[in-house]
Amino acid sequence: MRGPRSSFVSLLIVSLALAAGGALLAQRGQGGGRGQQANRVEIQEGQECPPGMTEVRHLQCQAPADAAPSIVDYRPRSTVVAPEHLVPKAKYPVVDVHTHVTETAENMPKMTQEMDALNLRVLVNLSGGSDPEQVKRKVDAIKASPYKDRFRVFANVNWNGAGGPGWKEKALADLEQAVKNGAIGLKIFKGLGLSDKKADGSRLHVDDPDLDPIWDLCARLNIPVIIHTADPEEFFQPLDYKNERWLELNVFPGRRYPQDRYPSFEELMKERDAMFAKHPKTRYIAAHFAWYGNDLPRLSKMLDAMPNVYPEVAAVLYEFGRQPHASREFFIKYQDRVLFGKDTYEPSEYPYYWRVFETTDEYFDYYRHYHAFWKLYGMGLPDEVLKKLYFRNALKVEPGLPQSGWPQ
Ligand SMILES: [Zn+2]
Repeated sequence: MRGPRSSFVSLLIVSLALAAGGALLAQRGQGGGRGQQANRVEIQEGQECPPGMTEVRHLQCQAPADAAPSIVDYRPRSTVVAPEHLVPKAKYPVVDVHTHVTETAENMPKMTQEMDALNLRVLVNLSGGSDPEQVKRKVDAIKASPYKDRFRVFANVNWNGAGGPGWKEKALADLEQAVKNGAIGLKIFKGLGLSDKKADGSRLHVDDPDLDPIWDLCARLNIPVIIHTADPEEFFQPLDYKNERWLELNVFPGRRYPQDRYPSFEELMKERDAMFAKHPKTRYIAAHFAWYGNDLPRLSKMLDAMPNVYPEVAAVLYEFGRQPHASREFFIKYQDRVLFGKDTYEPSEYPYYWRVFETTDEYFDYYRHYHAFWKLYGMGLPDEVLKKLYFRNALKVEPGLPQSGWPQ
């Protein structure tokens, strides 16, 4: 153990050495270790260390003695010893409002077993299709099975020819028929705004007035619209070493949106939020927490201004898990607005959500290492908030869900 006296002595020695050795010592390191031959470089206030170096003391950079591992090879094991509360099964039954599995007579028996183990009561397949006959086949397969209360289907819209002659009439008629055929909502994929084109070849903006009748029809049919607009903001930013998603964008280069070919994140947010505001009677579910999970103040502002918008948590668990206190406050404040969704149906991954929402565990791993270089922390949400997040809000926003048999 180093006592205050020995600390003082070391400090004195270092001070003397620095005073005596001046620039030479600054280059060779403070010594005292086991023969460290480290290079030290001084920097100015506001500067960063050169590549390969780290700031070891205020304004002093040093390179590690060994070559530094790459970010894929550096896998430190945590030495934290703390209670673990794994949550294989959610505390209350759950509606997953965001999935893409097409249910068939073959896959439903196994899926419902997996869902029971997780306490997932209803899965909502957002990929019903834009052809009302296709929607009908999917709905009928569910209705003909013993699992008719476990699955629901959303319809889609075909944007081909949007704004051109006859497009609007067909899109509206197809959507209305799809709902008659059993669709309980409309899903809008991220192609709207990013890549879908109008009949005249121009980019189809999320807030294009040609789409207004679609949103109005959803209000009249009393069905929600779940919309995925843009992607994480970093996907639109330069791919440098400051980019939080550097690894992901290098493993999956197709996820980048080079700014010479795509609209900016802000442009897309502006269009979507204008569309939300213009249709206050339409209920919108903002998929992936509107991509504002890393900016909860911004999302607060939007939710305060637009009571028709409901954020859904699919694929952004890493945002809540890295700021559990702010997230907890947010989920409590907006407990009547938040919905559960997962996007990728992978039974092994759901328990990570349950653990973040239900426990106060600390410093545990996420299931996608390339997303989050950080650990997750639990939010410890109160039971009443969990119930709203897991099923109550979904039952309100999506009247086509099975409405009975839920806990009080
Ligand atoms: Zn999705």
